[in-house]
Amino acid sequence: MCDMGKMSWILEAIKKAKFKMKIEAIIRIIAGKIAKPSDIIKCALCPNMCVFACPVGVVDGKETTSPAGKAKVAFLLEKYIEATPETIEPIYICCACNACQVWCPFEFSVAEILLPIKQRLYEEGIYLKKVKEIVDNLEKYHFVFGEPPKRQDKEGEVLLFRGCVVSQYYSQLEETAMNLLETIGLKIKVISDEKCCGYPAYIFGANSSFKRIAKETARQLNELDVKYIVMLCPTCAYTLRNIYAKYGIKIKHNIYHISEVIKMHLNKINFNETNMEIVIHDPCALARHLGNSDILYELLSKIPGLKIKKPMRSGKETFCCGFGGGLALINYGLAIKIAKERLKELLEEAKTIITACPACKRALESAGGTVYDITEFFHMLIKRTD
Ligand code: SF4
Ligand code: SF4
Repeated sequence: MCDMGKMSWILEAIKKAKFKMKIEAIIRIIAGKIAKPSDIIKCALCPNMCVFACPVGVVDGKETTSPAGKAKVAFLLEKYIEATPETIEPIYICCACNACQVWCPFEFSVAEILLPIKQRLYEEGIYLKKVKEIVDNLEKYHFVFGEPPKRQDKEGEVLLFRGCVVSQYYSQLEETAMNLLETIGLKIKVISDEKCCGYPAYIFGANSSFKRIAKETARQLNELDVKYIVMLCPTCAYTLRNIYAKYGIKIKHNIYHISEVIKMHLNKINFNETNMEIVIHDPCALARHLGNSDILYELLSKIPGLKIKKPMRSGKETFCCGFGGGLALINYGLAIKIAKERLKELLEEAKTIITACPACKRALESAGGTVYDITEFFHMLIKRTD
């Protein structure tokens, strides 16, 4: 599966290096005789032990974009090869799904160990054109896709944070979520000028932009008088809960993903019986990043009569939909191939897919699947007393 054609530019770069540098690079990469190896070097020297779990590794099948291949490229970019849009591209071909971390003997997340290199490159003005466009959108509009669609304010006690994918593609999902949450007794607030959490800027290494965006988003949320914040997108929830904390940016309200809020109120919900058969697609951000590996099964198992299937890879071993880590924004073709691969696996179990992430819904629908967000599915089956 190795793509020696794509590897050849790395070999060419080593060939062109000065003799001493060339020898040092070859020794470091191939022989691994390194005094104090950094994580990148350890990963670069690994025989790709996690590649079978990596969606890019499985679907792209190229050495340079495999987990260890990306680490090799990152290592070479540090000292041995010139950083150009062509040479840096492999390190952006990643779903940031952290499947590698589940199987890695060092517990590395390739997405995390690549981040400092992306940050340095961005700081030096070396980036992919598409990455720059997205970061510019975030800086200018606080929205990934450019100018955001117009929204209405609504007063309430619990803020529903829709996120960029819902705003752009699934305004109906926002309505459904409001309706579901109000059915279980919450007074939902939404704000018309909601700002992006900044995750794409973070994962693409635009560190200064991310900090600016995150501070502005935190300022807006901290001014609100609400009991807590419920998020439709698990990546937004992970960003506000975990990544902001890493940067010392505080949100004074508790942050929950909608599946967590449904779980808190589950004793108030009754469902109509169904004989449907469904398969669960666990989103990486929910199952791995937020550590809720079994929550969808737990929630769905409360629906009487529902036949629940799990695919080969589920829970913390789930396989990315392909749209994670902003991959669809920079390489849509590969992201869709990954989505098709995942869809094939899911369809072996059942025709109807339940997930809990707007980006997963969009990826699997774009690949041809029939997909419900858990919010929509619960809204459809909830027993109303009025
Ligand atoms: S993440 Fe771990 S298992 Fe995967 S290639 Fe790197 S060192 Fe090897
Ligand atoms: S984060 Fe996901 S896509 Fe990126 S290297 Fe790890 S397993 Fe592969």
